[in-house]
Amino acid sequence: MTSPSAPRPGTATPRSLPVVAPSSPEGALDDARDAPSNATSACGPDTAAGIPDPAAAGCHGGAERLRAAASTGERGQVLKELVEDYPMGPHDQPQGMCPAFGSLRVGLRMRRTATVLSGSACCVYGLTFTSHFYGARRTVGYVPFNSETLVTGALFEDIKKAMEELADPERYDTIVMTNLCIPTASGVPLDLLPKEINGVRIIGIDVPGFGVPTHAEAKDVLAGALLRYARKEAKAGPVPRPADLVEDRPTVTLLGELFPADPMVIGSLLEPMGVAVGTVVPPREWRELYKALDGSVVGAIHPFYVRSVRELQAAGRPILGSGPVGAEGTGTWLQAVGDELGLPAEKIGAAVDRGVGATRGALSAQRIQGRIVVSGYEGSELLVARLLTEAGAEVPYVGTALPRSPWSDADREWLEARGTHVQYRASLEQDKAAAQDVNPDLVLGTTPAVQAAKESGTPALYFTNLISARPLFGPAGAGGIAEVIGGAIRGRDRLNRMRSFFQGVGVGHATGYGHDGVPERRLTAKERNAQARGGAAVTGKTRKDPATAPAPEAQPAEVT
Ligand code: SF4
Repeated sequence: MTSPSAPRPGTATPRSLPVVAPSSPEGALDDARDAPSNATSACGPDTAAGIPDPAAAGCHGGAERLRAAASTGERGQVLKELVEDYPMGPHDQPQGMCPAFGSLRVGLRMRRTATVLSGSACCVYGLTFTSHFYGARRTVGYVPFNSETLVTGALFEDIKKAMEELADPERYDTIVMTNLCIPTASGVPLDLLPKEINGVRIIGIDVPGFGVPTHAEAKDVLAGALLRYARKEAKAGPVPRPADLVEDRPTVTLLGELFPADPMVIGSLLEPMGVAVGTVVPPREWRELYKALDGSVVGAIHPFYVRSVRELQAAGRPILGSGPVGAEGTGTWLQAVGDELGLPAEKIGAAVDRGVGATRGALSAQRIQGRIVVSGYEGSELLVARLLTEAGAEVPYVGTALPRSPWSDADREWLEARGTHVQYRASLEQDKAAAQDVNPDLVLGTTPAVQAAKESGTPALYFTNLISARPLFGPAGAGGIAEVIGGAIRGRDRLNRMRSFFQGVGVGHATGYGHDGVPERRLTAKERNAQARGGAAVTGKTRKDPATAPAPEAQPAEVT
């Protein structure tokens, strides 16, 4: 047994069970939103023969070499599929947090599910820290490795043994085993794990930073794997009945990690048509997967769930893009759902009239005045931009870290028709450049984008915590958005008073906590000794070239 901080890279791996057994109550994650920074982008991985130099590998460098290592041999197929499903953007390494946080978070939110990682200790430390920072309240399992276990294949045996010891059907339905960068690059074959041990499902996924560009897409890696497993179960025979299964009406399966009130709001919009929300993927428990597959139609609210879409399509479910956002979006989406289900025109009309009327009323109650730049990595950026535009804002730029998808085409076309530039796979540099170019009244973005905007005196709100953590759809989304946005825009004077007050604080050599003096180079022990003897100190520069250096006693002192 070990914790993420226990084994040091390069030390011998104990061959006893290398996994922490999850111990805390199930289903105990709160609704905290994703981490704003690359808090878990930790490190370069361990040394192992056949894999890249650890000093240059990991998310801070060496992605090409890891990619090259992963693309060889039988496991090259894993990388090929990742590249096809999650195409790279302008940058070759994650600009946000470690992508594996996305799939880890999905696993930690599921009841009766154990999550186990295998990767470099520093990666696992960062991921575990971030999970608990956001209230996971569950242990994250860890199977460590070293050069020997990686090269000899013993790591796979360690993982298998860990699965066997953890697979307690009294406690778990499922164990999610995740390969991070180095085990993926080294080809640790999780697909060869047993599919089930003691009745507990074993699901192995590869989530390397060099193959999954964002943590959002890593959510789809796991959600797709879960749906695939559940679909095969359902195909093979009867499966347990999900709780609260709706059977008397058609249902809509929603794709995306939505604000908790949004499925309820969407349900009330669908109600006049006699349609209900079935469930949301990623799910909170295993049986919801059967419900998702059983849905009459799928709303790809977050448009990047490509593997999940593939599984739902394989189950025969039609997919709809966009979502009921703003008055126009609400009307169009409800109409599309009704048409797909072949409902009578009067039923569709009743739902559209009610949804559009209520949303329009909420939008007209308060208006937004101002120019807003939107960027983020949630997948809902285009929907948010539509809502802001309908509320009266000018939105010249929307950047999303996610790639272009057919399920966001309607939103892109709607925005482009109103003069908005939509940037898929936007880099931080593009987002910051847009915020400078268009002289906005407000920036909605990720932490570094918000920080840059505030430093330049532009009000800014963090997209994940302040925009994604509120309703987005129908009248609930429209109500109050102007208040949030208007309050931030009106804060420009206060922001600039703060900038003046703190002018020069925490910049240059004073950046960071507790630094107030100009840094001085500390003398080496040799230099201190020389100084104590009253002789001249010898600088490092001189030491590097002893052949040409003057004798120490003849050299002038350079260090004070
Ligand atoms: S798993 Fe990969 S992307 Fe994640 S922190 Fe480690 S090296 Fe970086």
